[in-house]
Order: sequence, then C-alpha cells, then structure tokens
Amino acid sequence: QAKAYGRRQAQYFNQDVSASAKASFLMEHQLIEAISNHDLSVFYQPIMSGDAQSIVGCEALVRWQHHSLGFLSPGEFLPLAYEVGLIAELDFWVLEQVCKDIKLSRDRGLAMPIVAVNLSADALVDPLLTDKVWDLLEQYQVQGSQLELEMIEDAIKDDSSLLQQTLEQLVRMGIKLSIDDFGTGYSSLLRLKNLPFTTLKIDRSFIEDLPKSADDCAITLSILGMAKGLGVSVVAEGVENDEQERWLQQQGCNYLQGFKYYKPMPRDDLFKVLIGVK
Ligand code: C2E
Ligand code: MG
Ligand code: MG
Ligand code: MG
Repeated sequence: QAKAYGRRQAQYFNQDVSASAKASFLMEHQLIEAISNHDLSVFYQPIMSGDAQSIVGCEALVRWQHHSLGFLSPGEFLPLAYEVGLIAELDFWVLEQVCKDIKLSRDRGLAMPIVAVNLSADALVDPLLTDKVWDLLEQYQVQGSQLELEMIEDAIKDDSSLLQQTLEQLVRMGIKLSIDDFGTGYSSLLRLKNLPFTTLKIDRSFIEDLPKSADDCAITLSILGMAKGLGVSVVAEGVENDEQERWLQQQGCNYLQGFKYYKPMPRDDLFKVLIGVK
C-alpha cells in the first residue's frame, strides 16, 4: 500500500517536473521573442539629491509586458534570463533603449538626468562590451557622462585584469560606475580600493529599518564614513518614509532613491515629471 502510494507520488512528481520544464522552455522562447519584439520595456526611477529637492539622476529598470501573464517584474523573469544565458542580451537591449530615450529627451528639448543602467556579470565579461557601448553612444549621440553602470559585488569579485581594463575603458568614455546592493555580496574592500567606482548604493535591506535598528544605523554609518574617505558618493536605496530620510540627511548621505519620492515609471511619465520639476 505504502509502496503504491509512493510510486504514485513519484509519478505526480515527475509530471510536475515535466510541466515546469515545459513552462520554463516556453518562457525561454517567449523571453527571446520579447527581447526582439519590444515586449520588454524600460521604466525609470528618479534619484534625488541629498536634500531631496531635485532629481539628479534616474535608474533604468526592466519590465516585461507578458501577453497572458500581464506585467512581470524583474524578480519574476531575470532568474530565467540568467539561467538560459539571455541576461547579457537583455542588458544590451536595455542600454540601447536608454540611449534612444536620452536622444529622444534631447530632441524634445528636455534634459534627462544621468541614467544608471544595471549590468549583469555576463554582460561585464563580454569582450565586446566596451565596443558595444561605444557604438551605442555614437549611434544615439549620447555622451558617456550621461550614463552610469551599476553592478553588484558578485559581478566584480574576481581579480581579473580584463575586468580592470574594461572598467577603466568605460571610465575613459566618461561613464560612471557604481556598486549596487552594496553590503549584500561577496566582493572585497580591495576590489573597492582598486577598481574605478564613483558610487556605492546601500542596499535597501539596510535602509528599511532605519533609524530604529541600531545595527543598520551602524552599518550605514560605516559605509558613509568609508565612502567619504575613499572619495565616492553614496545612494541610499529604498527610502520610503520621513524618518529614514531625516536620519540619512543628518548623516550626510549624498543621494536618495525610493518610493518616498518616485516609483519606477514609464519614460513618458518621467518626461512629464522632468517638465514639471524644471
Ligand atoms: P536594483 O538594481 O537594486 O533596483 C532597485 C529595486 O528596488 C527596483 O526593483 C526598485 O523598483 C526597487 N525599489 C526602489 N525603491 C524602493 C522602495 O522604496 N521600496 C521598495 N520596496 N522597493 C524599491 P525592480 O525594478 O523590481 O528590480 C529588481 C532588481 O532587478 C534590480 O535591483 C536589479 O538588480 C534587477 N534589474 C532590473 N533591471 C535590470 C536590468 O536591466 N538588467 C539587470 N541585469 N538587472 C536588472
Ligand atoms: Mg540597480
Ligand atoms: Mg540595488
Ligand atoms: Mg536591489
């Protein structure tokens, strides 16, 4: 009896596995199509000055308008993109959209602030990365100084001279580099010291319980102190309320980003905000 039951369970299990394998196979193909068919889109979240009075930049965040599942956020499809090796292609697609949008903003007489684009480890090790970036800048007549590239610690943890060269070339193009989700990864302070980063983005998990959590206060303070000593600036991610904002301002945090100010929005909404704010 128990044996039969076990076999039966195993069968169900197999069915589940093949169903989910099919689903992920379908998703993979849909994702490839989405990248070429413009079913993906780029949203922008403004980044505020330390006094929270002005927009000094924005971050490009990818979205997928799925025909049957509706709106998918990165957490719902980026893992698949990583798994099937599509993430670098997705990153380059986003980068091109951003360059197009910067050009469009200029054509409309709007000054789009510096745009930060997330770059995966896969995109970072693409030997053609700097060529591709250069071509995009040229094609859309975008200055390197209009772009910032964000990478997580894990993407820069290896001590490779190729990585060093790539980052230095990007900096020579005028592009700023920031470390995303700072404090959550496996990088080292040596990387931070040797690589040409200009910005640290403190992960939202450290900002969430400020200023109530003494631990988070200590961690954030030490990041701010270290950044100051190293001459890099700090963005606090995920600022949602007045208490967080006040504390971060008192500690001299350079930039603020979070739902307290703006949620990520489509390009045209950002353009409206820029017109209103100006
Ligand atoms: P991230 O780069 O750390 O981006 C910040 C995330 O925090 C965004 O989530 C943003 O919507 C969210 N966020 C901002 N302010 C707040 C806040 O006040 N409260 C809360 N609860 N959340 C806030 P999103 O758009 O879902 O993106 C998640 C992650 O997906 C990003 O984290 C980034 O790691 C990745 N990602 C997004 N777009 C791209 C892309 O084009 N390429 C790559 N490689 N990764 C991307
Ligand atoms: Mg980011
Ligand atoms: Mg982040
Ligand atoms: Mg994050």
